[in-house]
Amino acid sequence: MLTKILRIDEVHKNETAIREAGEIIKAGGLVAFPTETVYGLGGDALNPASSRKIYEAKGRPSDNPLIVHITDMEALPAIVKSVPETAKKLADAFWPGPLTMIMEKSALVPKETTGGLDTVAVRMPSDAVALAFIRAAGGYVAAPSANRSGRPSPTRAAYVAQDMNGRIEMILDGGDATLGLESTIVDLTVEPPVILRPGFITGEMLRQKLGRVEEDRTLFSDDSGQAPKAPGMKYRHYAPKGELVIVKGAAETVTDYINEQLAGERRNHKKTGVIATDETVAGYRADVPRSVGKRADATAAAKGLYRILREFDDEGVDLIYSESFDGEGVSQAVMNRLLKAAGHKVINV
Ligand code: AMP
Ligand code: MG
Repeated sequence: MLTKILRIDEVHKNETAIREAGEIIKAGGLVAFPTETVYGLGGDALNPASSRKIYEAKGRPSDNPLIVHITDMEALPAIVKSVPETAKKLADAFWPGPLTMIMEKSALVPKETTGGLDTVAVRMPSDAVALAFIRAAGGYVAAPSANRSGRPSPTRAAYVAQDMNGRIEMILDGGDATLGLESTIVDLTVEPPVILRPGFITGEMLRQKLGRVEEDRTLFSDDSGQAPKAPGMKYRHYAPKGELVIVKGAAETVTDYINEQLAGERRNHKKTGVIATDETVAGYRADVPRSVGKRADATAAAKGLYRILREFDDEGVDLIYSESFDGEGVSQAVMNRLLKAAGHKVINV
């Protein structure tokens, strides 16, 4: 299959391209599209054959549920059993935006889309290209991130092409994703609601609207010993090809420790990478040192993390050391992805 890549600078100037993308979805094909979080791999959410194709293109097990993307609140009642009050409140505050809500599904949504579950994950993205595309596609686009399973989520069209060329009909190139990390996922089918994946909409923001909201206890700890709550949580995610280790401690101690390790790895002819910050990056003697930005700027770290992980892959890095990003809010989302990418390998120094 030839994958067509179309650059979309502005929706109103690229209406033909967006219409063409929408027709592909309606005909049961797949189109990768930009959102404000990461690129999505879209298919018709109401067509079981389309969802099966998404799993195949991703190389992902089919019990890992997809997120259904919509463009307006009028689209919601048809795909859920009933719209919970909690969902109305959160939609008012955070949609369109980087928040995914899990609700009981209606009969309209095939189990192929929900990974066999009776619940459906729904999001209304804010990206203008995403909204125009979903509308052109009929209003319900199922999409996971547009990476091959086990690779970091793609934050630009070129990364989608690396993973998906020849596997899908089209890629809409809307430039770099503005946020760079996947949406927050909150499960509204339980009381109190539970955050299954941290993101830009933080626990604090959700609590301000709903009162009590809990965090799944596997978010920041190794979950291998526990039964997963949702199929999506049982798979290793976001993994770079090289081994990744997080080093925690006081800034100087961390730099000294990592440099010591790097010297040893060099003797073993290993190619090394480091994930650091603007304040510390010059102090590392790695083959591929990278900064995620200023230490205080978690938003920059969120935006740069997946790009940096892919750059290590492209450079053939064998071993990566990362500084730790502890803190509240968006830092928690960054740390959650980093821990997953590292398979929870953390060294305290
Ligand atoms: P991705 O788009 O690759 O970030 O994947 C979407 C993720 O959403 C899945 O991996 C699941 O973790 C999560 N998800 C989607 N639907 C549900 C659901 N019904 N229940 C729990 N988690 C879900
Ligand atoms: Mg993903």
